[in-house]
Amino acid sequence: MTQDKFIQDNFITKIIDDDNDSGKWGNRVHTRFPPEPNGYLHIGHAKSICLNFGLAKKYKGKCNLRFDDTNPLKEDSEYVNSIIEDVKWLGFQWEKEPLYASDYFEKMYNYALILIEQGNAFVCDLSFEEVKDQRGTLTKPGSESPFRERSIKENIELFQKMKEGEFKDGEKTLRAKIDMRHSNLNMRDPVMYRILHSSHHRTGNNWSIYPMYDWAHGLEDSIENITHSVCTLEFEDHRPLYDWYLDRLSVYHPRQIEFARLNLNFTIMSKRKLKRLVDEGHVDGWSDPRMPTVSGLRRRGYTPESIKNFSDEIGVTKRDAIVDVAKLENALRDDLNKKAPRVMGVLDPIKIIITNYPNDKVEYLDAKNNPEDESAGKRKIAFSKEIFIDRNDFMEDPPKKFFRLSVGKEVRLKFAYYITCNDLLKDSDGNIVELHCTYDPETKGGMSQDGRKVRGTLHWVSASKFIEADIRLYDRLFMDENPEVGGEFVKNLNAESLKTIKNAKLEMSLDSADSNCIYQFERTGYFILDSKDSKKENLIFNRAVSLRDSWARINR
Ligand code: ATP
Ligand code: MG
Repeated sequence: MTQDKFIQDNFITKIIDDDNDSGKWGNRVHTRFPPEPNGYLHIGHAKSICLNFGLAKKYKGKCNLRFDDTNPLKEDSEYVNSIIEDVKWLGFQWEKEPLYASDYFEKMYNYALILIEQGNAFVCDLSFEEVKDQRGTLTKPGSESPFRERSIKENIELFQKMKEGEFKDGEKTLRAKIDMRHSNLNMRDPVMYRILHSSHHRTGNNWSIYPMYDWAHGLEDSIENITHSVCTLEFEDHRPLYDWYLDRLSVYHPRQIEFARLNLNFTIMSKRKLKRLVDEGHVDGWSDPRMPTVSGLRRRGYTPESIKNFSDEIGVTKRDAIVDVAKLENALRDDLNKKAPRVMGVLDPIKIIITNYPNDKVEYLDAKNNPEDESAGKRKIAFSKEIFIDRNDFMEDPPKKFFRLSVGKEVRLKFAYYITCNDLLKDSDGNIVELHCTYDPETKGGMSQDGRKVRGTLHWVSASKFIEADIRLYDRLFMDENPEVGGEFVKNLNAESLKTIKNAKLEMSLDSADSNCIYQFERTGYFILDSKDSKKENLIFNRAVSLRDSWARINR
């Protein structure tokens, strides 16, 4: 089963193997996935989830789901809930309950007091801007804060007052006392705490100071006894600070390991930018099926297995690269090809009258549910004198290699009969409105008795027994493979990224479709009932992905 597949060997598994050989962590593997609840998870997070939970599984270890909720200004419990739902849907189980950095605020505060007592931290009265201005550059050392030499006693008193809410936002910070000439800018007396009189979604108004990422993150890992703290490459330059804090405190000290984040072409992958698409109404919320969010992919028709397979296939590296989004789409096709039930649906119908078929007769024919999976069984589909086929399966003046229907040609109707087209009917504008065909009763089931062959096999739907639905055809959200080209990503939105087809004709069995099942509409693509907008009286299906990659052909 694909679900139980382990992640492939990579440089991180090599580190863990070496650690296990040397007994460094007592053969323990304990990872974590630490989202900040300031937006919905996207496919990049899914990659990190698959890696962290995958490592825990591979080594029979543990993985925590931990909310890094240290910034009350941007965080919200709506995001917490969506993250929990998404991780569950991907099929991963965290250790015990979800954990929250905010539960450690008191511990972190006490650790900060220890650093102050050691003379390793001080309260600074410079504003955030002044701190930034005095930080220096890669070629220029920073300058020391005039408050750097405050006494330990004064620092402790001021820090306590910061906590008690005696100062205004931004009036003071707590900073580590490291080295303003350090070659790594992160080590130049970084801010550990800022004052923020803001209500937190879990701790309410208990706190007036909030910890900065670098200070908080290592402590979170340490408190939870994490062994391998896996994060993305942009934190490589922060590792010396991660290590500095934990070393100074002489506490349990996990190892931080960085890997290259996932980037996809045609895709924006930043919560801040995705939020902008939502807030400005460019999409229908975070779960819009065009969004690269886990909830968007789910609504679009992605399966957890396709995402896990994709994540495994692209591997884990130290080099930044941009992955072709077609790879993600192909992972979905591969998965759905194996398990999607086949049904028939006609998106752009044209009517066929089978002139030699009895007027009121309806026959129920056997149709295979999945040629890739015998155990999926068969179903009955209605056949009648009038049927629909897709308009592009007929041509009045066909080129030589057109094996579908045209006047004088014979084709197979899948699971039904051979039909030959004899005539067509046009309206006053010259549009074809009806095709007149005859069927061969000897070809029931789509096989001829006399061994004659036809090249084309068409899907179809009975025009006396069918249901109607709207179909949403999705395309890439951005026109350029680099959504940022020319500056503003919102200027590169693809105006054609959603097309809706009204009144498509579908076989009756789809009456009982639900949004947990993804279907292959024969010869057309993979479709899922829209979990948000579809109603019994107005069914809506989303196209998850076409059967083949049409972009590959266009861009060749
Ligand atoms: P973004 O920059 O997209 O808003 P983030 O890094 O701010 O994301 P966090 O909530 O801090 O989001 O991320 C949680 C975890 O997911 C972190 O360990 C982070 O490194 C990882 N992660 C985020 N984006 C990606 C990505 N594109 N590829 C792999 N891992 C990622
Ligand atoms: Mg972040």
